[in-house]
Amino acid sequence: MKNINITKKITQGMYVLTTKNGGCIVDAVSQVSAGDNPLIAVSIMKKNYTNELLKSNNKFAISILGKDVNPEIIKTFGFNSSRDINKFEKTETTKIEEIDVINNSLGYMICEIIDSIDNETHTVFIGKIIEADVFKEKEPMSYGYYQEHKEELLKVNTEKGKTAWICTVCGYIYYGDEIPDDFKCPVCGVPKELFKIK
Ligand code: FE
Repeated sequence: MKNINITKKITQGMYVLTTKNGGCIVDAVSQVSAGDNPLIAVSIMKKNYTNELLKSNNKFAISILGKDVNPEIIKTFGFNSSRDINKFEKTETTKIEEIDVINNSLGYMICEIIDSIDNETHTVFIGKIIEADVFKEKEPMSYGYYQEHKEELLKVNTEKGKTAWICTVCGYIYYGDEIPDDFKCPVCGVPKELFKIK
């Protein structure tokens, strides 16, 4: 391959994917057909608990985040696992077609899963839109915008006496004076060298 970095020029967004019992932040979402019930493709890491949930659910929702989204939503859905916390307890949601959608978003699409494709790292789920609505006409947050602004978006009140380290790839924050040598980002898997002090 001459230069794989060209893929960074693909425009992606910031979304919360939810299903029964969990959800997570996703950036790889695409409308891949037209018609009355367009198809949506969304890709989720296999190590992600939401991937497991989707394999036993038949529906998911995509809530589209705006530039003005409360960053707590990104922290809750991006840097935690639904294995450990109930993400819906910390976030205002509305149940549509039995799925929780994020109130603090630009709107949502409810999709019925019709197919999926696996590779080594990810599963691409294909869903047919069965319901959708717009909550507000504001600018969506692109993945590029998030990457550029993640430090200010995720600004934290550092706990007393602890250093906050930010993952320069995904924005995950680690607290502690030193990062252990064998540490890997729990969200994106990169080593400690890619963390810097906030
Ligand atoms: Fe990371």
